[in-house]
Amino acid sequence: MNSIYVETNDKRYPIYFAHDFDGLGKAVEENGLLGRKLCIISDSNVSSIYGEKVKKALEDYFESIFVYTFNAGEKSKNLNTISDFYEFFLENHIDRKTVVAALGGGVCGDMAGFAAATYLRGIKFIQIPTTLLAQVDSSVGGKVGVDFKNSKNIIGAFYQPEFVYINTQTLDTLPEREFNAGMAEVIKYGPIYSHEFTEYIVNNKKSVAQRDKHALEHIIKKCCEIKAEVVSKDEKEGGLREILNFGHTIGHAIETKMDFSLLHGECVALGMNAVFEICLKRNTVNENEYKELKELLEYFKLPLNISSIMPDEVYSQMFLDKKVKNNQLSFVLLEKYGKPFSTTQVNKDEIYSALNAVLR
Ligand code: ADP
Ligand code: ZN
Repeated sequence: MNSIYVETNDKRYPIYFAHDFDGLGKAVEENGLLGRKLCIISDSNVSSIYGEKVKKALEDYFESIFVYTFNAGEKSKNLNTISDFYEFFLENHIDRKTVVAALGGGVCGDMAGFAAATYLRGIKFIQIPTTLLAQVDSSVGGKVGVDFKNSKNIIGAFYQPEFVYINTQTLDTLPEREFNAGMAEVIKYGPIYSHEFTEYIVNNKKSVAQRDKHALEHIIKKCCEIKAEVVSKDEKEGGLREILNFGHTIGHAIETKMDFSLLHGECVALGMNAVFEICLKRNTVNENEYKELKELLEYFKLPLNISSIMPDEVYSQMFLDKKVKNNQLSFVLLEKYGKPFSTTQVNKDEIYSALNAVLR
């Protein structure tokens, strides 16, 4: 099977790339999980489309399979839902040898992973991500958790899966807005890694938008390779991993200020646009590179600016982010295209001119 590996301090695990679920059983076998019990956790949308297919693909490989379905959406991402998972685990005698499978988007992966990390102090889990965002970002790297009192992902853990199985065909049924929001995270990997990757997306944007499986596999695999490389060097965000937050300092603040009415990826698009504004003023990216980014975001119907909130509101919100240390904002900027660095040395004028560019 087509695969790559993620290596962390105490674990090495594969990410498989496929266009169906046929290889899932083999993945289970290869990772020594044969004959155990399986508990599939999925959301209401994904479960009704893919639940049976996954169950069928795995029935010969597990002793028994349980399925737990929760209501789809970020609103479910809280400790009450986790508590429902635990109850289901207890009722079905889920033990240390049971494997938890997350079948769904980022919300499902983060929650199933968190439940697996904490139940019986940790049982094995596997990721079967079905949104573009989850396939290129959240299912890789071991961050799991839930939202709490309007703070996103504030309760959580680092917990790596046994493997990640990406079936790009599942993206066929993903609503367009969700797909495009995932593209924001895909596009993010260009400026932080190499212009060559951006060129590939630009040259293949039509196939990608049409969800051609080969084009999708190419970009998803590349994103996973980049993320795996970053995570392998810095599992717990001591430094390098921060580059993955490109566009997120401003993006997160907008997301919160908009009461989560915009999707995460849409806010990342706004945040990247703002960061490019700063880099352009510093002459570390040029007009063409900026134009290319904007055109790509526009092609995938991502917002370049919004008018419903004020720069002051976003500016103060940024200081409330959980990543802020010593009341200092941290930004990922570009030394040049493909060369990111993290810094707290961005002055207020620069931040305001970036905010003014996207909030109008
Ligand atoms: P994200 O992955 O962006 O963090 P979610 O896990 O909430 O977000 O998924 C976004 C939405 O897309 C949810 O409503 C979810 O049920 C739905 N969804 C996820 N995967 C698919 C799919 N492959 N086909 C159709 N809908 C999907
Ligand atoms: Zn993100």
